Amino acid sequence: MARYDAEAFHFPEHPEPLAVLREAVEPLYNAGRYRSALDAVLERLRTDGMGADPFWWALALLRSRADDPANTEPVTASQRENAYFTPIATECQRCEAYWYSSHVLHRDVAELQVSNPVGLQCQECRYTLCRHCLPAGQSRCPAQGCPGGLGLPVLPTGRPRGRPANRHTGRLEQVLVLWHGQPVDAAELEGLVDVACTWQDRRNWWGYEQRVEPHDFTADAGFALIARQERDGSAGAGALQRTRTVLLGTPRGQRMLFVTAAPEAGAPEAGAPETGAPETGAG
Ligand SMILES: [Zn+2]
Ligand SMILES: [Zn+2]
Repeated sequence: MARYDAEAFHFPEHPEPLAVLREAVEPLYNAGRYRSALDAVLERLRTDGMGADPFWWALALLRSRADDPANTEPVTASQRENAYFTPIATECQRCEAYWYSSHVLHRDVAELQVSNPVGLQCQECRYTLCRHCLPAGQSRCPAQGCPGGLGLPVLPTGRPRGRPANRHTGRLEQVLVLWHGQPVDAAELEGLVDVACTWQDRRNWWGYEQRVEPHDFTADAGFALIARQERDGSAGAGALQRTRTVLLGTPRGQRMLFVTAAPEAGAPEAGAPETGAPETGAG
């Protein structure tokens, strides 16, 4: 039976609170400065990677309501979309909508009472449907062969459809960004690097042609650049083979990321072609 939360962060029963994080976040949280508090959490995730305590704070902050009178600094849309928070998001299997459910923060999830939930989730396999995709009266899990039922709590699933995880991004050698449209500024670049460090579209190994308009973007140019770096030694041997592409459409234009894993990060995932890098015109 397939599981639908394989890419989620799984909170331990008894998370260890980090004093250093609480010192940084709690005063901001108590002052209603949720945006700054979430930035402090994000800094911790960027330096130390995933952890129960930063994710606990992140969920509490991402769940904060903009109309809460105590909320003097609401969380922003770009914070909500940040790739580092993907493992604690819950995604609808049908429409890819995602949200942050705080059910996991409740100690006694069995007694959870929620009116008008954003969605329901299979209690066996974590298959999730948002309320717009939920057929009226449906309580059986739609996943094939699953005997479970749709209900609460709704726990994180990650976003395997929208932003699938890549286990080979633990260590990166470099990130190359080509853009079409408005140039990438420093703030946007930070967000793009977050995407590169956490998530990539693994369905798209060398399959970029399908998603790139021929005159819109030249993925070949990026691969040619990396091939040249490999020849002149500014990138490690085999860099081309460790490079994946991520194509992102943003309001400012298309961005194509060429993410090169560090050599020690390991070989491409099973099932991905070991060869077949596009022609780069190397000669
Ligand atoms: Zn949906
Ligand atoms: Zn199920």
